[in-house]
Amino acid sequence: MSGEVLLDIQNLSTGYSGVPVVRNLSLHVDAGEVVAMLGPNGAGKTTTLITCSGLIPVLAGSVTLFGNSVNSKSPFKNARTGMAHVVEDRSLFFGLTVAENMRLGLTGSRAGRAAAFDSALDLLPALRPLVDRRAGLLSGGEQQMLAMARALASQPKLLLLDEMSMGLAPVIVQRLLPIVREIADQTGAGVLLVEQHVHMALGIADRAYVLSHGELVLEGDAKELLERQDLLEASYLGEQGGTARPDE
Ligand code: ATP
Repeated sequence: MSGEVLLDIQNLSTGYSGVPVVRNLSLHVDAGEVVAMLGPNGAGKTTTLITCSGLIPVLAGSVTLFGNSVNSKSPFKNARTGMAHVVEDRSLFFGLTVAENMRLGLTGSRAGRAAAFDSALDLLPALRPLVDRRAGLLSGGEQQMLAMARALASQPKLLLLDEMSMGLAPVIVQRLLPIVREIADQTGAGVLLVEQHVHMALGIADRAYVLSHGELVLEGDAKELLERQDLLEASYLGEQGGTARPDE
């Protein structure tokens, strides 16, 4: 399954204005793997992802992307090395069409851009009939597919997906998550998937990490974790006893 280590996080502390909200986190994502990052609201999942794409600095420890330290001075340079980040709010241009949204980030020769555009649509064929539709007229699920297609058009080796299920009905999430699996299987990209639908995410992931209050509290093989509801619940509830529970 796994191969090259694409993302290697060691003893990471990261946060805002010099104050850590994630502490001592270590994780890795290898080529072809889907790795779920789980945990209750405020656990530090988004903070970890934006540190990986260089949007906020590493306070301590290290984040290594494709063998090099993440560049938090020039996030776009990280993107150029082969990383794509689909943010929580999807950041689409609603007044532009599907095709225009997808073409925005494309670089290289005309033929290369056309091939990248086409291969992204091959992975998300439901978008093909919608290429001329304005993004603002798409359903929530279609908008999420477009956000993924735009990321895939850059042919990333590593894809960071932040809560793709945000605002979507569970039945739509159930249709989208297998596409994530297919992306990893077909392109060999590694995927770091932040998701609130714990069981659905574990159903398509290879491995998972659970964060709580900014710390890693559980990690393991996704299939094994699926069978350990007790461990999952304990990791969500934490020692203090909270109210968050992993979603069904
Ligand atoms: P959620 O599922 O709610 O997005 P999360 O696990 O992604 O949760 P983060 O968004 O990473 O959690 O938040 C971790 C902590 O950092 C929280 O306590 C949050 O309030 C804090 N935080 C998030 N963004 C900022 C910010 N821009 N400035 C200061 N603190 C922040």
